[in-house]
Amino acid sequence: MSAARPRNTAPTAAPPWPVLQSPAHWRRLDFISDLHLQASEPATFSAWQHYMQTTRADAVFILGDLFEVWVGDDVLETPGFEVGCAQVLKAASQRLAIFLMHGNRDFLLGSAFAQAGGLTLLNDPSVLNFAGQRWLLSHGDALCLGDTDYLQFRAQVRSAAWQENFLSQPLAQRQQMAQDMRRQSETHKRSGAPYADLDEPMTCHWLALAQAGTLIHGHTHKPTDHHITAGLRRIVLSDWDACATPARAEVLRLSAIAANQAKGSSVQRLSATLAK
Ligand code: MN
Repeated sequence: MSAARPRNTAPTAAPPWPVLQSPAHWRRLDFISDLHLQASEPATFSAWQHYMQTTRADAVFILGDLFEVWVGDDVLETPGFEVGCAQVLKAASQRLAIFLMHGNRDFLLGSAFAQAGGLTLLNDPSVLNFAGQRWLLSHGDALCLGDTDYLQFRAQVRSAAWQENFLSQPLAQRQQMAQDMRRQSETHKRSGAPYADLDEPMTCHWLALAQAGTLIHGHTHKPTDHHITAGLRRIVLSDWDACATPARAEVLRLSAIAANQAKGSSVQRLSATLAK
């Protein structure tokens, strides 16, 4: 199998953005992001595996950076960590729906991975209709307008030409390039350069375009509920690190409150170990 072409469209593609209509029987939706799964961190993998095996959500939305890095779906041709992750997803997909959005680390996840994991790739951003409300879903990096260097890099690596060229390199070379990029990013992190947060005016603009009241996103690793202005808010997901003190493995759960979904919803933050 040759390296699969990713299906992602430009995340900032002009609206109208795709709208996902929840089936009427969905009562409970889980949102996670920024797990940064990697073979060298088995504890976080185990926490995630246990969560995927036990959650009673009707659907799990993974809003980007499930993996620390993804260099092409052809990694699935060799048994290893990535194949194990796909198997966890595939098993869970027998009980619930799984949706996955690209993050800035794993934007090369493609259709072969989606098929192996039994999941649906989501455009960034997407609108979700649930419990009589519209929710805007995004990884969040495209809204960090203050980080101009990153946005430039992002525009480059999200272009079809760059991806085609990258995926045509031998796997070992792609892994080496990814490692080099990671090292550069670590150096940048250690330099103490401040991290950009989401740009508020643009966030409001996106919410208006989506006709949504709430944005749910990851990427910044700063789990908070921001009330931006009357009726507009953004809910930030936590990253996962089972080895941190205290361990971070949080699930955001949206529940339809009444039998009639139009009556509203509740939002809870749960520890992944308790998210049954
Ligand atoms: Mn990210």
